[in-house]
Amino acid sequence: MAEISDERRLFGTNGVRGVVNKELTLELVLELSQAIGTFFKGGKMVVGCDGRTSSPALRNLAMGGLASVGCKVHDIGQAPTPMIDFMTRAWKAEGGIAVTASHNPPEYNGIKTIKSDGVETDREEELQIEKIYFSRSWKRAEWNRVGDIVEETGAGLREYLDSIKKEVDIARIRSRNLKVVVDPGNGVSALTTPILMSELGCKVITINANIDGRFPGRFSEPRPDTIGSLMSLVKSSDADFGVALDGDGDRAIFVDETGEAQWGDRSFALVADDYFSTNPGHTIVTPVSCSRAIKEIADSRNGKIVWTKVGSVDVSHRMIDVGADLGGEENGGIFYAPHIPVRDGSMAAALIANIIAKAGQSLSELLSLLPSYQLYKEKVPCPNHLKQQVLATLRERTSKYNPETIDGVKVMFEDGTSVLLRPSGTEPIFRIMAEGKSADAARNVADEYKSIIAKIIKEKNTDA
Ligand code: MG
Repeated sequence: MAEISDERRLFGTNGVRGVVNKELTLELVLELSQAIGTFFKGGKMVVGCDGRTSSPALRNLAMGGLASVGCKVHDIGQAPTPMIDFMTRAWKAEGGIAVTASHNPPEYNGIKTIKSDGVETDREEELQIEKIYFSRSWKRAEWNRVGDIVEETGAGLREYLDSIKKEVDIARIRSRNLKVVVDPGNGVSALTTPILMSELGCKVITINANIDGRFPGRFSEPRPDTIGSLMSLVKSSDADFGVALDGDGDRAIFVDETGEAQWGDRSFALVADDYFSTNPGHTIVTPVSCSRAIKEIADSRNGKIVWTKVGSVDVSHRMIDVGADLGGEENGGIFYAPHIPVRDGSMAAALIANIIAKAGQSLSELLSLLPSYQLYKEKVPCPNHLKQQVLATLRERTSKYNPETIDGVKVMFEDGTSVLLRPSGTEPIFRIMAEGKSADAARNVADEYKSIIAKIIKEKNTDA
C-alpha cells in the first residue's frame, strides 16, 4: 500500500523536483500551483525564484496558478530561498512558493511550498496538497475574484539583511578588517551575501557572482571538490575566510585562511561551540547524519542535542517544537531561529565572521581546537522489500549500545567510533556512515557493519 501512495507522490525531501519539460512540466507547475493556492485558501502568497534558465517561466506559471484560485501574489523575483521564506513570514502571507532546485544540475527545477511561519510544509500538509492536485479539486475563482500580482522585486532586501545584521556584533567585526571571498556559484546568493558581508564591515572579494542558470563557474553544490577556485583565491588574496553557497543560497561551506575547505559539520561545530559558550545548557537540533563532534561539544558545555531525521524541514520543525535557537547539518545548512528557523547561507557567513572577530583567532586556529573525526561512507545492496526487516534486526542487535533510532540506527561507541545505518529512500541499498578518530578506525567500523548487514540480508532471504 505504501508503494502505491509513493508512486502518486510529488513532494520529495525538499519540495517537488525534476528535469524541466520532462518530469517537471509547465502544466504540472501550473496545476500544482492551483492546488497550492487552494490549500492556502486563496490567501496572500509570496513567490520568488532562483537564477535557473527555466525559473522565470515557471515563476510566472506559479503566480498565474495562484492568482487563478484567488490568491493575491507578491512577486519578489529572484531571491535566495531563505529570503523568500523570510518575506513570507515578514509580510504575514498565508504561504509562499520558491521556484528552485537548490544545488541540482541546471536542467532541474522545482517548487517548494512555504507556510506563514516561513518554514516549508511538512509531510502531512504535502499529502493534502497532493490530494487536491491528483483529484483536480482546486477551486477556480470567479472572474472578479482572480488575484492581483504585485511586482515587488528587491522590496524585502533591506528588512531581510537587517534581520541578519542584528544577530551579530557589527562594530567588532568591522574593527577586525576581515577580508572575505564570497562564491555564490552563479546562484542567487549573489544578490545578498556580498552586500551583507560588506555591510558588516568586511572587505569583500567575489567569484562566480554573476547569476547564470547554467552554472558556468562551478557545480552548484559547494563541496571541497567543486570549490577549488575559491580555495586558491582565499589563499592568494590573503583573505580571512571564504564562503561558497549553493544555487539557492541556503547552504554554505567555508574555506579557512590557509585555503582549506571545511565540510559543513566543522563550521556547524564552531557555531555550536560558540553558541553553547554563551548559552550553556541550551538545546540544539541536528540530523543523525551529523558528526559526533557536535555531541562532544554539547557534552563539554552541558548542552543538549535533539537528533532528527535527515532533512532540513525536519530540523526546522523540531527547532520550533523544542524552542531551539540553533540547528545545523553536515552539508552546510545552519539554522538560526532568532533570524529565522530555516537554513540560511548568509546568516551562516555572518555568524562565522562574528566568531572570528570575537575570538581574534584565525578560522583554522579556531577549528583546530574542536574535536574532529574522520568520515568513511559505505553501502550494501539490499532489496527494497527487506529494508525494514533488516533495520529492525539492526536495532535489536545494537540495543545494548543505546542507539538513536529516529532515522535508521546511529550508534556512538565508547572507543570513539560511531556508525549510522540507514536504508536509502530511493535506491536498493543500505547506507553506512562511519566516524572514527582515524581514517582506519572509521573504515574498520564501516567494514564490520557492512558484513553484519550483508549477513542479516542473507538470513532474511533464507527465511523467505
Ligand atoms: Mg539549497
